[in-house]
Amino acid sequence: MNIKKLVKKEVAGLRAYNAKEVPCRIKLDANESPYGISGALKAAGRISTNRYPDPEANEFKKLLSRQLGIKPANILQGNGSDELIYYLITAFGGPVLFPVPTFSMYGIIAQALGENKVPVGLDENFDLNTADMLAAIKKHRPKLIFLSSPNNPTGNCFSAERILAVVEASKGIVVIDEAYQPFSSERGFLPLLKDYKNVVILRTLSKIGLAAIRLGYMIGHPEIVEEVNKVRLPFNVNSLSQAVAVAALGDTKKLRGFIKGVVAERDRMLGKMSSLAGVTVFQSEANFILFKVEDPAGVYASLLKAGILVRDLDDVVKGCLRVTIGTRAENAAFFSALKKILSK
Ligand code: PMP
Repeated sequence: MNIKKLVKKEVAGLRAYNAKEVPCRIKLDANESPYGISGALKAAGRISTNRYPDPEANEFKKLLSRQLGIKPANILQGNGSDELIYYLITAFGGPVLFPVPTFSMYGIIAQALGENKVPVGLDENFDLNTADMLAAIKKHRPKLIFLSSPNNPTGNCFSAERILAVVEASKGIVVIDEAYQPFSSERGFLPLLKDYKNVVILRTLSKIGLAAIRLGYMIGHPEIVEEVNKVRLPFNVNSLSQAVAVAALGDTKKLRGFIKGVVAERDRMLGKMSSLAGVTVFQSEANFILFKVEDPAGVYASLLKAGILVRDLDDVVKGCLRVTIGTRAENAAFFSALKKILSK
């Protein structure tokens, strides 16, 4: 039997998301937090293993609605924000427009679901190219637009007025993916929701110390939440994750402290890396730094040899690698290894 002939053509043409484990001493490739919230695991001990999870994740939504000043009806939970991207495209369909380079899952999921993709290049500062975006919106009339701000992998925020121009021009839904918003000096786009029914905000706990529990959420108009909820699998967020999330999010002081620590380390690393000869560093509002070197494959391999795993993005942004901000000691080890490699 020829499985390649049996599978849908959109799926045959895909490559699986590259998330394989590479053994290393210092893991700085996946934009995780260096700080876990292990105290929150105690809450998992109180769940009943024989019962299905709360299908509505009520406690989680109640806590978020208190913290964010919105209603539970504005929130939908996902098994990571990846799953919500899947559900949004399942519910609304394409064309799906996104700037490039950006988070790869928008394109991968659109393709897997057989929807048309409309990639639009960013400008030379990695900001939205307003004229190109508006022209593409007019031409393709996308049902969905995904804007990651701060953007992965470039690290910058898109200008607010350009995002607003896209929101105003779009007859479809504009998803502002704020996975990295906690690390940004900007306030985020939640306030847009009261004026624009077509805006959805996407957030995740993965970057703030809880990647293991796979929990993301979208915030939007109740009518959008209602439609997306129709395609959600009934028990998509398990009881362990719900309990751990509620316990972890309750300790806002600890979470804020960890985020502040990452931001301080990022700014210190931006300064240090900028002073290195042979490296071009891009400013970052996220928990990672994109940087350009002459020989990205060689630098990647040499770093790995030194036990440090970063992300090779040469095929996405020419010559670039991406390093996640770790602990002070991890960052110091990365920096001294990089310095040594470049001086050879
Ligand atoms: N959006 C962006 C921009 C991301 O970089 C990521 C993680 N790499 C996600 C969404 C997905 O996060 P998760 O599924 O872990 O919530």
